[in-house]
Amino acid sequence: MSSCFGCQQLVSVTDKICCFDCKNNFHYGCVGYTKTSFSRLTAKAKSNWKCPACKLPTKNDDKSPVKSISYSPPPHAPLPSAAGNLDEYFRSMEVSLLSKLKTELVSLIEDKILKDIQKKVGAIPQVKAHLDEV
Ligand SMILES: [Zn+2]
Ligand SMILES: [Zn+2]
Repeated sequence: MSSCFGCQQLVSVTDKICCFDCKNNFHYGCVGYTKTSFSRLTAKAKSNWKCPACKLPTKNDDKSPVKSISYSPPPHAPLPSAAGNLDEYFRSMEVSLLSKLKTELVSLIEDKILKDIQKKVGAIPQVKAHLDEV
């Protein structure tokens, strides 16, 4: 007589099922079989049977589709410095754009004022001439 690895009770030869892997004996009822389902097991199925513990996939099972992939960013992530560079890049772009805009604006204004002045200055002799006529 051997004892069941599940319930530690004695198990008769007719009720026992032996694990192919760990060679432990179990009551068929202790591993989820009914009398009917146990009686339907073939001799080959019984000899190749594995207990629930041995059926569990091991952690290093390569066939397991679930692999624990833990993503962790590299210790020296380039993100902060890249962000800083980007910030600086935008700032420099802003500055260059603004200075370009300012230059254009100033030259535009100067151009306009200059033309205005030239127009007025040019008009002065005419006005003077007109005044002289009066
Ligand atoms: Zn048992
Ligand atoms: Zn086993």
